[in-house]
This record gives sequence, C-alpha cells and structure tokens, in this order.
Amino acid sequence: MPGFELFGDLERQQVNDVLDNGVLMRYGFDGMRNGHWKAKELETALENAFQTNYVQLVSSGTAAVSVALAAAGVGAGDEVIMPTFTFVASFEAIMALGAVPILVDIDDTLALNPESVELAITPKTKAVMVVQMCGSMGDLKALQSICDKHNLLLVEDACQAIGGTYNGKPLGSIGDLGCFSFDFVKTITCGEGGAVITNNKEYYVNADHFSDHGHDHIGNDRGAEAHPILGYNFRISELHAAVGLAQVQRLNEFIGIQRQYLNIFKETLSQVNGVTLRNVPEGGVESGAFFNFFLPDLECTRKVIQGFKEGGIDLCWNYYDNNWHYIRKWDHLKELKSLFPISAEVKEGLKYLETKTFDKSDHYIGRNISCLIKLSWTKEEVQERANKMAQIIKTVLNN
Ligand SMILES: *Cc1c(COP(=O)(O)O)cnc(C)c1O
Repeated sequence: MPGFELFGDLERQQVNDVLDNGVLMRYGFDGMRNGHWKAKELETALENAFQTNYVQLVSSGTAAVSVALAAAGVGAGDEVIMPTFTFVASFEAIMALGAVPILVDIDDTLALNPESVELAITPKTKAVMVVQMCGSMGDLKALQSICDKHNLLLVEDACQAIGGTYNGKPLGSIGDLGCFSFDFVKTITCGEGGAVITNNKEYYVNADHFSDHGHDHIGNDRGAEAHPILGYNFRISELHAAVGLAQVQRLNEFIGIQRQYLNIFKETLSQVNGVTLRNVPEGGVESGAFFNFFLPDLECTRKVIQGFKEGGIDLCWNYYDNNWHYIRKWDHLKELKSLFPISAEVKEGLKYLETKTFDKSDHYIGRNISCLIKLSWTKEEVQERANKMAQIIKTVLNN
C-alpha cells in the first residue's frame, strides 16, 4: 500500500519548486510564488482522479473526517453511526465536534453491516460513516438506500481504499462526502495530509472556510478577508501538497501493481481448504492495498499468524488483538479517558459502550487475516510469498 515505497525525483522536484520561492503556505503571498500553487494544483488533480466536483485538502485524514461532518452541519449531540473495525481516528474526529459516535457491527465485507446500521438509527442520527477498510468497501447500495429512507448523510472514509471503485465510481465519491488520508502509510502520501471530496458546492465552500479559520478566501488580500463562520486551522502546507502532487501522478501505476499482486494472493490462497476470501460487494473493485481472508475460527487464526511469523511472512495481522483498529482494545474510549472534561451529551451518549457486545464483529474480525501488499515486491516474490502462506495454513489446518 505505501506510496513511500516508490519515491524519488518527481517528489524532490515538486518540493524544490516550493523551496525555491519560499512560500510554504497554500494561501496568499501571490507575488512571491512564481505561479506555484501546489495545494490548488493537487486539488484539481484529485478532482480528476476521484471524478468529483470539489476537493478540499486538509492537514490529515482525521481532520478530513471532522471537516466533512462540520461542513454538513453535524455537531453537538448528533449521532454518527460508524463501524467497530476502523482506525481510532473515526471516533476522535466525531467527538472533536461534540457529536456522538455510535459503533455498530461489521460483516464479511469488513465494513458496516447494513442491518446493524438500520437498528442503530434514532431521532438523533445525522450521518452514517462507512469506513472502506483495507482496500475494499461496504455494501454501498444497501447503505445508500438506508440513508435515503431515513434522510441521513452518507459519509465515506476512504482513507484505506484510495483507487478502489464501486460501479465504476471511485470510492469516496459515492456518498455525500468522502474523506481521504495521505499520511505516510497510505497508498499515496503527502507525508501528512488529507482531503474532503464532495459534489455539493455548499459543503465544499463550508469545508474551504472552516479548515482555514473561517476565511472566505475572497480577493487577494488575506488580512482583509471576512470570516462568515467560526473555523479552525486544518490547513495543508505547500510542501506537503507538493509531495502529493508528485504521488498522484503515479496513482494509476500504484493501483495497477497492487491489483496484480492481490490477484496472485487470491488465486493461490482460495485453493486452500478452510480459507474464505473477504466479500467484495457486487460492482466493487478493490484497490489492492491489502489482501484479506477468513479462517474457520480464532484459534487457528492465531496459530496461522504465529506460523507466518516463524516462517518469515511479515505484514499480516489479525486485528482481534490490535490496539488501534478494533473496539476490543479501545478502553480509553469506553472509559472516556479524556484530558479535558467531555460534554454531558457525549458522556451520556457513550454509556452504551459500558455493556454493549459486538458478537458479529468478533465473529468476523477474530477469523480475519489482513496482509499489506507492497509495491516494491516483484511478481515472483509475491507468488513465492503466497505459496508459503498456503503451505503454512495447510499445515495448521491439517489438510
Ligand atoms: C489513516 C486513517 C485515518 C486517519 O488519517 P490520518 O491522515 O493519519 O489522520 C482515518 N481513517 C482511516 C480508516 C485510516 O486508515
């Protein structure tokens, strides 16, 4: 997955453009910049890549989620439905706005289970946030129809699925708003950075203002600009945007490599008795950032992971015991370990986590193995790795 693996002259040249004129900020200083507007150029490039009308770059993927929700008016006391399997950023970004994350089960897509989503809807629900985990996606048709029926926003966190598509459309561009991360381990990187994408002009203008202290960005005198709304600083820098501009030019190449390698893993491992592949919804094409599969139970999954370690197969994880991506280890959320007092609404809204269990999620995450796909491997190395994985699984499962 990581764009940092294939990194070089293109990135250096873009960054040097910025350093040569010394304007490290994306706004203002028009006279000094010699025509270099890296963040603006990257936004245009991403509009093309993600086939969307508007892109607002921000400082991170976490910021993108907060900005997307804020841009659509989600805030204090509102409930946002999100999955039990995601990165901690999901609930952080929701809670930063004073909204309440409502965690619900995932299914064999490794994303939101539509039935669990529908059961979790209350009069306070404002948005459903589907997290397109590990290069693939949730059942977007079912989720969209639930959102339509209940008049809810559909927000896509596509941070881990850059380049994946659903019915020919890029992931992130299907919901009302999409969020991306370009941190150092994502498919394309800026070092740190993120983006909100949308076809809704009002949301875009809100995101543009909110992510820069409420600046309306009218005219060319930054100090004289008006502030129609309260905002915050979620800006990306020109240096980071410059790196992204080099990377986005290689996105198709990266996705091509990933998909080729994903197919090798799928073809080899699907031959092994006891291995089931992750369910990809009809019409979906994975980005190939990860290869995911299920084994019969938690015990043999742990044994296979151990076998992989001993056999030199790195970069494969079972998220059941993981600190950062699965509800089981999120005690800091369940116990509300905040540095500062949290609002009564959020405290009350999160009480359900003291007792709620997530059996369906445990059932899938406990049996899942997720393997990162590296761009820097050769095809031969991938085949060799896949063969070795198959052998280890066969030994553990005794077949
Ligand atoms: C990486 C990631 C984020 C956060 O992105 P940052 O740029 O690191 O803040 C959010 N959601 C998911 C699913 C991610 O993988």
